Amino acid sequence: MITEDKFVHAKRAKKGAKPPKTAAQLNAAQGKFPFTEINGFKLKEVEWTVPDKKTRKRRRSAFGKVREEFLKHIGATMEPALREMGLTDKQIEQVKKGTAPNGYNVHHKLPIHGGGKNEFSNLILMPIKPHDELHHKVMDPQVAQMQSGDSKKVIIPWTDDMVYVDPERKKAQPQKSVLIAKAMESRRGRA
Ligand SMILES: [Zn+2]
Repeated sequence: MITEDKFVHAKRAKKGAKPPKTAAQLNAAQGKFPFTEINGFKLKEVEWTVPDKKTRKRRRSAFGKVREEFLKHIGATMEPALREMGLTDKQIEQVKKGTAPNGYNVHHKLPIHGGGKNEFSNLILMPIKPHDELHHKVMDPQVAQMQSGDSKKVIIPWTDDMVYVDPERKKAQPQKSVLIAKAMESRRGRA
């Protein structure tokens, strides 16, 4: 049984001495994980290239408008998936107007820091808790030291979905999820 270790901010014994890392932390930093799937996302290897600061800043500021368009798009075309995710009628109305409901986030599957773009196929609406786990448990340990211009192979959590489906619900209703995935397939690549 492998338990997950949190970083411990231990006081440094000596100036310049770093707190020792656990085996799990060292493995995560090298893209080695004791699981192949997390929160319904499958681990996948990609080339992570950090764009220069200017490009990252430009993409982040352009994302404001794209996020609004993306939410309007899924609000208009993927209502069953939004309902399956657990949104209320009121929250679905918000999505249709281009706003993420409280507690939800639009995630870049390949983050802007890794060279990801503001394309609909690179975006997914999902709850904040599983979202933050994708970053903290999988990506952050591998890319923490990377600077502008750096490039290396990185394991990222990937899904083709644009609306998060709880993996437990996915298991319970495989038929429905397959239909939603097919509907998404036909809508992809429009942004
Ligand atoms: Zn994210």
